[in-house]
Formats: sequence, C-alpha cells, structure tokens
Amino acid sequence: MGMSKFALLNSISMKSISSLSLAGKKVLVRVDFNVPLTADFQVSDDTRLRATLPTIHHILDAGASLVLMSHLGRPKDGPTDKYSLRHIIPALEKLIGKPVQFANDCIGAEASEKAAALQSGEILLLENLRFYKEEEKGDIGFAEKLSKLGNVYVNDAFGTAHRAHASTAVMAQFFTEKAAGFVMSAEIENAKKVLDSAQKPYVAIMGGAKVSDKILIMENLLDRIDHLIIGGGMAYTFWKAKGGVIGNSLLEEDRLETCLRILDLAKEKGVEVHLPMDSTIADAFSNEAQKTNCESKGIPAGWMGLDIGQKAMQDFREVVLKCKTILWNGPMGVFEMPAFAEGTKTIAHAVVEATANGAYSLIGGGDSAAAVNQLGFGDQVSYVSTGGGALLEYMEGKVLPGVAALGE
Ligand code: AMP
Repeated sequence: MGMSKFALLNSISMKSISSLSLAGKKVLVRVDFNVPLTADFQVSDDTRLRATLPTIHHILDAGASLVLMSHLGRPKDGPTDKYSLRHIIPALEKLIGKPVQFANDCIGAEASEKAAALQSGEILLLENLRFYKEEEKGDIGFAEKLSKLGNVYVNDAFGTAHRAHASTAVMAQFFTEKAAGFVMSAEIENAKKVLDSAQKPYVAIMGGAKVSDKILIMENLLDRIDHLIIGGGMAYTFWKAKGGVIGNSLLEEDRLETCLRILDLAKEKGVEVHLPMDSTIADAFSNEAQKTNCESKGIPAGWMGLDIGQKAMQDFREVVLKCKTILWNGPMGVFEMPAFAEGTKTIAHAVVEATANGAYSLIGGGDSAAAVNQLGFGDQVSYVSTGGGALLEYMEGKVLPGVAALGE
C-alpha cells in the first residue's frame, strides 16, 4: 500500500521558477517569514529570511516586481502589533540590499494600489496573512483577493506546504503561471532522495518526545530502511511495551500496542530495530538533577530516562557509520539541558562523520535541525530541512496541498 501512495505522490510535477519567463511580471511569492523576534522586535534568527534570498534575487534579476506574503506567529484576534511583519523590514532590507515597501493590510485598497504601482525590481511586503482567519480556513474569496495582487504565483514556504491555507494552496487556482521557489524545490528534491533513491544500508533515526507523532512515518519507512534507531523520550514506551520497567520516564500508555505492532512489522520486513540499551537517568526533570546510568529496561521508581546512555551512544554510532543513507528526526534526549545533550551530540557527530565518508544525510524536524545547527554542524550534513510538520507528512507519504496546488 505504501508503494501506491508514493507513486501518486511522485506523479505530481512541480515547476521551478527557473522555468518561468518573468520579465515585466508582478510575482506574488508566499514565503515563510515566520521568524523569532526579541522583546524589542528585532529578528533574533534570520535563517528563514536568508533562505529565501535566492528566490528573491532570481525574480528581481529577471526584471520582475515582487510582492511578498507570509504569516508571523499565531495571531488570534486580528491585527496585533506584536505579530506585524513591519518589524522584520530592517532585517530584510539589509539582507536584500534594497528598500522594501510595506502594505499595512494584506488585502484592500492600500495593498492593491501599492502592488499596482510597483516597478520592476521593486519589492512590496504585505502585512501578516493570519490577521485574517480566512487565511487558515483556506477561504476562496480571500484567496481570490490576494491573487489580484500579482500575475505569477510562487510558493517558497515549504514549512506550511502541508496546510491547505488560502495563500499556501487555494490561491494557486487563480494563476496559469505558478511555480515552486528554490527553497520549496530543494526541500522536495532532498526529501525524494531518502524516499525514492536511497542507497543502502539506510538508517532512520527517530527521537523526540512522542511515539504518536512518528508512527506513520516509521510505518512508511519500514519498506525502505534497513535499520531503525529509536531514541529520545519515545524509546521508553517501546521498552515498556517489551515488558521493561521505566520509572517516571515518558510513557504513552495508549501507544503500547502500536509499539509492538511496529516492532512486529519491522521484523517481518527485515528491518533491524535499535533501542537504547542504557540511559542517563535523573531524579527530576532538571539540568541540576542527580543523574546516573542504568539499563533502559530497568529504570528505578522515582527516576526517569532523559538521554541515551554510553552503551547506546556507541551502538547507535556504529550503525550510523555503516550506513549510506541517514534520515534523522528528533533528539536522543532532552538536549535543551546540557546535562542531557550528550546523546544527541554524539549522534550528530556520527552523522557528520558518515557524511564525510560519503553517506547522504537528511536532518528533518524542528528539534533535530535546531540541535545540528546549534552544534555548528549545519553545513557538514547533506541537507537540513526547514519544514518540521511538512517534512514529516511528506515522509508519511501524504500529498502536501501546497505542492499539489503547483502541479499542472
Ligand atoms: P519532538 O518535538 O517530538 O521531536 O520532541 C522534541 C522534544 O523531545 C525535545 O524538546 C526534547 O527535550 C524532548 N525529549 C527528548 N528526549 C526526551 C526524554 N527522554 N524525556 C523527555 N523529553 C525528551
């Protein structure tokens, strides 16, 4: 069944902007400018702005004008200064090296007039799309109003491609000329590498807090992978399902059956599953807690596993180093606390080493991507995906509405 879903997925062909002729056009680009802001509204991490520069420069260099639209945060009650995209203009102008005009409302007279007056090479940024509840509802009337602001549609926001919002999918139907920006194309291309043309041996490293978030992706990957490494908080539900005792470690009671099913399925498909044999355990969920090492299947009452242990680190490292394709999603422990970051760091080192030896490595999902970037390894792996939920859904074999909408 997995195969037929993927066949469908791959039949969607997405045009890249490099195939469009853009001179004299007005290009509406959905970007992901959902960046973190400091208390005084400075952009504290401009990764997402920088990521869109190739798309922006390509459009401007082609002699087109550019209308940028994005969401920022999760505003609940309409326009709120805290979530205004106005705050990002200084950072954006500095990166692009050109002035950026601003429309205080993403639709309406001001946006229409400013968009209409744009000359080629000029840039207009629209106010936060999520100031309208119609955006997330995928309202067609709202999508049509947005579509009037340009004559070419480009989607470069992979991070929201799994949502059928007005700007991410619905508005595409109003354009004959539409394409994926460079971020979107690169994300899909790299995701495809681990789905369709993975070299073997292939390992998927799953971590993070919840089994429930990763069930579908694990099931889908079992047809492709040779090794499944399970670390992080989710490993304890697996140990419990296998009859272990896990103290106060994270547990999803209602997923015990699921864990057994995944283990059975893996066996059936000849996938070797690697659980952490030992753990770093703590007597409290705190960086300052007392900590020690013990077998993961025998954690004493009052203690919890917050990182994989030394033996697990060695085991996992060995598996990673013998693989040619590596997909990593989710940290091995509570890496935000230095006391429990060693497992995640060790795996990151192993992935970097394997990559240097010729393996292809894709790091996906917000937390593992953050961990790899924090460690300064971002450029030593093959690709770090920017799209958490979108990448997971793609890996689960789902058709992403934002990608489907760009199909011909
Ligand atoms: P996820 O969003 O599912 O990838 O989970 C990421 C989160 O899982 C991070 O915030 C980690 O701190 C957390 N996490 C990883 N390992 C553990 C663990 N052993 N116990 C509790 N939380 C964990």
